[in-house]
Parts: sequence; C-alpha cells; structure tokens
Amino acid sequence: MTLEQALAKLNELQTAQHAYGHAMGVLSLDGDTAAPSASAKGRAETMGYLSGVTYQLLVNDTVKEALETIIANKNAVTPVQYRQAELFKEDYDDSVRIPMEEYVEYSTLITNSNAVWHEAKEKNDYASFAPYLEKIITFNRKFAAYKDDKRPAYDVLLDGFEKGASTATLDPFFALLRTELSPIIKAVAEKPAPDAAFLQQRFPINDQRIFSDRLMQMMGIPRDRCGIAETEHPFTTNFNKWDVRITTNYSETDVADSMYSVIHEGGHALYELGTADEIQFTNLASGASMGLHESQSRFYENIIGRSLPFCRALLPVMQECFPAQMKGVTAEALYAAVNKSGPSLIRTQADELTYGQHIAIRYEMEKLMIGGDAKVDELPALWNQMYKEYLGVTVPNDREGILQDVHWSGGMIGYFPSYALGSAYGVQMLAAMEKDFDPWADVEKADLSRVTAWLGEKIHRHGKLLTPPQLLKNAIGQDFDPTCYVSYLKRKFAALYNL
Ligand code: ZN
Repeated sequence: MTLEQALAKLNELQTAQHAYGHAMGVLSLDGDTAAPSASAKGRAETMGYLSGVTYQLLVNDTVKEALETIIANKNAVTPVQYRQAELFKEDYDDSVRIPMEEYVEYSTLITNSNAVWHEAKEKNDYASFAPYLEKIITFNRKFAAYKDDKRPAYDVLLDGFEKGASTATLDPFFALLRTELSPIIKAVAEKPAPDAAFLQQRFPINDQRIFSDRLMQMMGIPRDRCGIAETEHPFTTNFNKWDVRITTNYSETDVADSMYSVIHEGGHALYELGTADEIQFTNLASGASMGLHESQSRFYENIIGRSLPFCRALLPVMQECFPAQMKGVTAEALYAAVNKSGPSLIRTQADELTYGQHIAIRYEMEKLMIGGDAKVDELPALWNQMYKEYLGVTVPNDREGILQDVHWSGGMIGYFPSYALGSAYGVQMLAAMEKDFDPWADVEKADLSRVTAWLGEKIHRHGKLLTPPQLLKNAIGQDFDPTCYVSYLKRKFAALYNL
C-alpha cells in the first residue's frame, strides 16, 4: 500500500466513523431525552447492529495496513494525520483483542442496562439492576485482560479514561485528600451553617428554564451550536463543534441543583465548542481525556461558579428571574450559601470541600468490584458502610445510595477518579491563568470571554491532537501537584468558615 492510498483509507475511515458516531449519538441522546420508555428494546437492537458495523470498519486488514503505513512514515505526513492514525491504531489494538460477538453483546447489554438502571433507581430496586451490573463487571474485567493481562484489570480500566492513571498514583492522591481534608471537613461541621434556605424555596420549573438560558448566555455559550434538554442525570454530548448538547435536571425546591448542573455541563460544552475547525469530523475533535474534560466543567462550576466575584455577577440575574425568592439577598449571602459545606448523600449535590470524599468512596468500590473482592449483592452494604466511614452519613436507601449515579450502568468503571483529578488540574490552571491576567475583574462583570479564550488557547482548540499529559503541561506550565488543590480548598473554606 502506498502512503497516498493509506491516507485515502484514513480519510474514508474518518468520514464513516464520524457518520456512524453521529447517528448513534443522536439515537442515544433521543433514548435519554425524548423517546418513550418501551423504545429501549428496539434501540438496543439498532445500536448493537451499528456498533458491529463500526467495529468492522475499524478492525480489518486494510485499515491495519493503512494505519501502519502512516505511522511508519511519520516525517512524510502532517502531525494531524499522524495523530489520527496513532489514535485509530490504539483503538484498533484494543478492539482487535475483543471478539466481535462479545463486543456486540456488550453494546446491547449497556443499552439495556441503562434503561434497567433508570427504572431501578426510580423504584429503589437494586436487585433488578444487580444482574446487569454483575455482567458489566465481568465484561470489563475480561476486556481489561484482553487489552493487557500483565497489569491489574482496574489499572487498565483507569488508563482508558485517563491515560497514565493507575492505583499507584491514585492511592496516594486519594489518601492525601482524605488525610488533609478530613480535619477541615470536621472543623466546618462544628461551625454554624450559613443560611441557604433562600435557595430552597419554590422555584417554578418554567422560570428555571429561562434562568438556564441566562446562565448559558453568561458563560458565552453560542446557542445556535448548543442545545439544552432535561434528563435524570445531566450530561453533555457532542457530534461536532457545531452541534453540542447539554442536559440538566430541575428540582422545583432547589434552584442551585440545576444551576450548577448547567454551569458544569456548560464547561464541558465550551470545551467541545472550542475545538479547532481543522480537526472537525475526525477522531481528534473531542476532549483529550475524561480528567481534562472534568477539569473544564469543574473549573466553571466551582472555581468560577462558586467564587464571590461570580456570585456578584450572578445575583442580579437571579433577582431578575426570581424576584420574590431572591429579594434582599446579598452577593456575600449567596456566596456563603452556594459554598455551604457538609457531609451529604448525593455526589452531584456535594459541596466543593466534601466532593473528593464521594469520589474516593467510588474509587474504593470500583477497586473491590473489579478486583473480585466483593460480590454484587454485597455492594450496597459496602457503599453504605463507606459513606458512614468517610462522611459520617447514614444512607437511607439505595436510590440515594449506590443507585444514584449513571456511570456503572453505562459500563463506565474507572471514570469517577477523573472528577477528582480534573478538580485538581483546574486549580493549577487557575494559577497559570492568573499569571497572564486577572480573571476576577472580568468574572465580576459577568464577562467570561477572556477566561474561555485562555482555556480555548491552552486546551480546547487542540482536541486530542496532544496527549493528555502534554496538554496538561501546556496549560499549567509545570508538573501536576495535588497539594495545590488541597491548599486551595483549605484556604477557601478556612476563610468562608472563619477557621
Ligand atoms: Zn462532568
């Protein structure tokens, strides 16, 4: 095969993979948003078939030869072409080791289990979800071994979400969060809680929908390229930079719930919306890793969204959308309320200080699940026990316990640590940004354009062109250092709670 033929094959593969990915993405979004509940079975059929097709598109001898030809001719191709081939080759190597029947069977299982989880959560019925979770765990263990049977399965899974992550680096990371933050979590719990009751009045959902539009406007999200829908569990999905979707979940009695979901998912959306034109419709046109993605969402949600300058900018908008509920509230009171800290049950509603403990629990659970040290029917009790140990809270039911998150039902075992890593990356990004300009004067004026432009330049536009470690270094200008994250949290909460 000549290099020219190989590049033509690469282009053909890109076009086909993008088209199938787009179609499957829309189907999956429809399943999560608008489709009636009984439609899952038919969708699972279609998704199973289409994932078989995309598997065959990638895993065949012609593609293999084309990718190897391009990789062998590094100096004769552009860096973009080389990286595309390199990433496809990684996917190829991972996929070729999985027998196609197993791959298709797993895709169908995931589509079904997602629907089962929805119902199980609604009905607080872990037993109906357990057999699915068991199969998902078995598949993941098996797939990890296909990929690399010399490393522990959980390390291989972690690596799939955050390249280079392993229990060797994450054990000390979570230990640091626990030892350094536990004393301050305890100290905060002994202080009088700030008043947050004004956020928990009745906020009609229609008014909240208008408020979501205002938030997206404040974030500078172009609405002709980004839609918003409603789902049980908020998420972001992207088809290309001209079509990104976020979702949120409204609680009529807690305005902060959806507010921070919109800001979080808006951060993911800005990442996808900011990828460069030149890499659209290719395998480079998306976030570099889950940790880097979460670094963006959690940057907007917490570092910006839970700062005093942002609360100053936010307050007039809230008072416009909810005049009766927000009457007489000051920016300082809003700042204290949105940073109200305390041990809680639900990860997505956790404050910035205790959030890492929720992730540490899931990390320990996943180690047990994949390591085979816990049976599936023992998991709820283990979950509850860890919530008691780490956060001192009693879990009243599985709905608010082990069934709360969508991830495992979607086969995402090893994803959770990305949230904590991303939060830590974000703190170092802020430090680097502050060396270039003062973001806070802008934030206070509700102008996030320079903040987003800085992140766009350092991170968003590159998509997957750089490796995650290169990209991180690019953005923070130094090595990753989790003590920065710990110091940031200590400083912030010591000031908030007069410690
Ligand atoms: Zn996220």
